[in-house]
Amino acid sequence: MTQWQKAEQFMASTHEVLNQPPALENYNVLHADTALQEAIVRGHAGWAQNDLVAMGALAGKAETIELGFLANAHKPQFQSHDRFGHRIDLVEYHDAYHRLMTIATEHGLHASPWAKPQQGAHVARAANYYLHTQVEAAHGCPITMTFAAAPALQHQPDIAAEWLPKMLQHSYDPRNVPHTEKAAVTIGMAMTEKQGGSDVRANTTYAYPIGAKGPGQMYELVGHKWFVSAPMCDALLVLAQSEQGLSCFLLPRWRPDGTKNPIQIQQLKDKMGNVANASSEAELRGAMAWMIGEEGRGVRTIIEMVAMTRYDCMIGSSAGMRQATAQAIHHCQHRSAFGAKLIDQPLMQNVLADLALESEAALTLTMRMAQAMDKRDDPHEQALARIVVPAGKYWICKRTAEHAYEAMEVIGGSGVMENCIMPRLYREAPINAIWEGSGNVQCLDALRAVQKQPESFAALQTELMGVKGVNKALDAAIARLPQLLQQAQEQPFYARQWVELMARTMQAALLQQHAPHEVADAFCQSRLGDVAHLGYGRLTSPATAQVIVRRAWS
Ligand SMILES: Cc1cc2nc3c(=O)[nH]c(=O)nc-3n(C[C@H](O)[C@H](O)[C@H](O)COP(=O)(O)OP(=O)(O)OC[C@H]3O[C@@H](n4cnc5c(N)ncnc54)[C@H](O)[C@@H]3O)c2cc1C
Repeated sequence: MTQWQKAEQFMASTHEVLNQPPALENYNVLHADTALQEAIVRGHAGWAQNDLVAMGALAGKAETIELGFLANAHKPQFQSHDRFGHRIDLVEYHDAYHRLMTIATEHGLHASPWAKPQQGAHVARAANYYLHTQVEAAHGCPITMTFAAAPALQHQPDIAAEWLPKMLQHSYDPRNVPHTEKAAVTIGMAMTEKQGGSDVRANTTYAYPIGAKGPGQMYELVGHKWFVSAPMCDALLVLAQSEQGLSCFLLPRWRPDGTKNPIQIQQLKDKMGNVANASSEAELRGAMAWMIGEEGRGVRTIIEMVAMTRYDCMIGSSAGMRQATAQAIHHCQHRSAFGAKLIDQPLMQNVLADLALESEAALTLTMRMAQAMDKRDDPHEQALARIVVPAGKYWICKRTAEHAYEAMEVIGGSGVMENCIMPRLYREAPINAIWEGSGNVQCLDALRAVQKQPESFAALQTELMGVKGVNKALDAAIARLPQLLQQAQEQPFYARQWVELMARTMQAALLQQHAPHEVADAFCQSRLGDVAHLGYGRLTSPATAQVIVRRAWS
């Protein structure tokens, strides 16, 4: 061999790639998740097993995971006019987005409990959503809005009769054509305006009656909307002022005569996360809309939609935490440092177990709310959901951002790279916390719940009574809640302390009832009582940490 040939051989092979984990793909997301499997059985959704196993396999498939990357790499594109100068207000998405929407709708994530109500229907749908959204969260926005719009629309039975059957179809039709030409539709929501998001009473969009006034009648809307996500939805539920105050309207993309309804998109938002989903700013220039529910009671009409979207935020953020936990544990199983696998390093076990604890607590609380959704005729369950959904939405969404960052750090430098899912999970994390009622608004809503429906806090206390005497820290937290509530009622300044403890106490109680004692006790020990710092990696028992990690990744 000549010197040159030797050099060439040397240059062609500089090193062997060692100590790098394989991609986390081609696994069943459901089979890896013991806590989820248990929650499905507990929630009487065992009948959905085949569908959930299929979704678990699909969500873990390399091709499906790739769809999530593609949908985010290729941002939605907006065209205001066609090449002939006609206004079209068209948002075009990458094919991967449409394929994700197809999977979601074919599995009924936008509608299944309404389409086929049965015992465990909400639990099955929540589990399905939780599995699927681990692949990609942004396209969940129109899925959630369509799901949440159904109860609100039922306030206007004549309009619901036309739209609901199409909303409940387990299929997806992305064509930009009138809803009358479609078998399946999606619904969005436009409440937020520039001068007021949380405070929708500040809305200035005005609704002018075209003929008769009142519920079910046709109006023309003039004004603007500052956030309209998924603007290609076939219709939006919007709030606008009418003679008797803020009212709710259904605003379709097309008029009955087949012409385009003048909902003019000004531009797409340039978001840090939720990139695969388009969010727009729009102006309504005499757009035709139909009043839904009582005039002047728009907030009351749409509030059910809002409550359902908040519940879905719990599912979405819990799923984000689960995916981050799975990525972190998987990485540590395959990566060594200083002579041992990371998963066997005691300090890393502490961090992983703590991440897994947070994730299981989030899932358990979320699935308990899914069970409450399944019992819509049960006053106790409805009272409980009234207070736990805002508290859970607040706490789970808030915990997700730090959780994502910590999981990213577990993976190290590669965890920061865009070809890893972690940056996407991290950027997605604050969105649910802000969307549909930011942190303070959730806390104030929980306070309002107690004020207007004192039975909501009573329902929570009844729930907590079931675990009294099981754990000292939990007992102390339960005892402290009324005192913190009183303080928050006197001064909303303290509302976060009350809501946070309420969410953690409920999580702890559920874990004590349903999880292995190692998980439940570690949660009570680390999350209740005088918690000065809620960072990760501060558990106190190495043996317990090992049990928690093993349970988290089977
Ligand atoms: C990605 C994304 C998509 C969205 N899509 C939609 C959509 O499709 N349709 C839609 O209608 N909206 C949408 N929104 C808007 C979203 O719902 C609002 O941003 C949110 O409700 C907050 O409203 P705001 O931005 O006006 O903030 P503000 O209402 O101004 O609130 C700012 C801050 O003040 C706090 N605050 C408000 N009131 C009080 C109070 N009384 N005491 C203490 N603190 C208070 C809030 O918690 C918040 O932290 C979207 C937002 C995002 C980020």
